[in-house]
Amino acid sequence: MVAIKTRKGSETLIEQGALDEFRSGLGGETLTLEDAAYGEVREIWNAMIDSRPALIARCRDADDVVHSVKFARAHDLLISVRGAGHNIAGNSLADGGLLIDLSQMAAVEINAEAKTARVEPGATLGDVDAAAQTFGLATPTGINSTTGIAGLTLGGGFGWLSRSYGLTIDNLLSADVVTAGGDLLTTSESNHPDLFWGIRGGGGNFGIVTSFEYRLHEVGPELLSGLIVHDAGDAVAALEFYREFAAQAPDELTTWVVMRKAPPLPFLDEAVHGTDVVLFALLYNGDIADGEEAVASLRAFGSPVGEHVGPTPYVDWQQAFDPLFTPGARNYWKSHNFGELSDQTINILVAYAQDLPSGFSEIFIAQMGGETSRIAADATAYVGRDAAFVLNVHTRWEDPADDDRCVAWAREFFDATLPGAIDGAYVNFMTADESGRVEAAYGANHERLVAVKDHYDPDNMFRLNQNIAPSGTR
Ligand SMILES: Cc1cc2nc3c(=O)[nH]c(=O)nc-3n(C[C@H](O)[C@H](O)[C@H](O)COP(=O)(O)OP(=O)(O)OC[C@H]3O[C@@H](n4cnc5c(N)ncnc54)[C@H](O)[C@@H]3O)c2cc1C
Repeated sequence: MVAIKTRKGSETLIEQGALDEFRSGLGGETLTLEDAAYGEVREIWNAMIDSRPALIARCRDADDVVHSVKFARAHDLLISVRGAGHNIAGNSLADGGLLIDLSQMAAVEINAEAKTARVEPGATLGDVDAAAQTFGLATPTGINSTTGIAGLTLGGGFGWLSRSYGLTIDNLLSADVVTAGGDLLTTSESNHPDLFWGIRGGGGNFGIVTSFEYRLHEVGPELLSGLIVHDAGDAVAALEFYREFAAQAPDELTTWVVMRKAPPLPFLDEAVHGTDVVLFALLYNGDIADGEEAVASLRAFGSPVGEHVGPTPYVDWQQAFDPLFTPGARNYWKSHNFGELSDQTINILVAYAQDLPSGFSEIFIAQMGGETSRIAADATAYVGRDAAFVLNVHTRWEDPADDDRCVAWAREFFDATLPGAIDGAYVNFMTADESGRVEAAYGANHERLVAVKDHYDPDNMFRLNQNIAPSGTR
């Protein structure tokens, strides 16, 4: 017998017989708090999240997912869905509820001739890149190889290739989805198009995706990429230069800004390690010589304290930031979309960058535009097509005693940078306490998202996410 939280917050006792029946129908294993493997399996990337599901269903295939959804429905259980467990908000762990764990469903199959990839939801970006690059192919994803493809895709997904080929969802051809009713549907532009529209940016609100099919592009295998590092004393001039540089950059070139303490990178003088710096991180998706030309003025700007730019295997560059994003730290992020970087915004960013609350914290500015902004804002649920930049502050620390101070700093930073921001927000960068921001984050697309939710999940079974509440519960 096990006590599991229901959708309404009470507890229900699942009799041993019902539990045994569930277990025997599941290809994968089930875990409860008593099992030795439970502690390790319930861990997720953000150590701030300490939720304990009462039951974990480790799914092996789509049948296991259908079985788990039907079991949850029969007992009205609170459920969460986990891909690779990277989401900052920690919604993938239902406290006291049933965790439907997809992390073991991580197969990636490449069709090199058709240039497509069939990917299971437990795969990481690294899994996808490695398999696709075997054939010199790739699809746009994010910048940290241990991030899960499922959560990233469902929220939108962007990284070094997005200015060339759009968001991850713009390369999604179809997906298999287990609905709240326990049906397995294949969805695409022509099959259940409303559902397909909703899962491209609407998160895990409408069902559980058991398989994604992506379009692939010829990429690399070597591309011009790297870092240019400036002292923080030059930060205002560097950001002013950057905004002009970014505005005229070709789609092939993507340059992000990172403001933080210099990591101990081998190409930096030891005296620079730990000092406040502004980093330009860049990738040119095309011919190396064309890339050299495109980045020449950025390399010539000012007096960098270090530089490491050159031809690099794409898969290596996709892992370049992994050492900064290791699991197990405490994280609290805040994000805004920007149409431009005004003088006022630059001054605020620079002031806060000099006052980061911990040695691991950093301010990230992702360059968007290019193909991401050529797609209509209502073509998919992801609305932020007008963002030229996505700002994300990665507030990161280790000691729980620093929680209040670091969270307060991030909130203050968020408020200070708000005046320069535009409407909309990237739901994948939102924390657990931002549920009140979801409607505004989706803006004009929210109403249609509610209609899709009403159709596919009127009881809000899939509620542990940046939730789109169905009409009946509003
Ligand atoms: C270090 C780091 C770097 C990042 N960099 C980028 C970046 O460069 N670009 C970018 O776009 N994003 C980036 N992100 C954000 C990332 O896209 C989200 O954290 C994403 O949710 C991670 O997906 P996951 O599957 O690992 O998450 P999980 O925590 O496993 O899942 C997140 C949520 O997604 C839903 N979900 C997951 N799988 C499914 C499924 N199969 N079916 C239905 N719902 C599901 C659930 O609601 C779940 O709560 C980064 C995050 C981190 C922590």
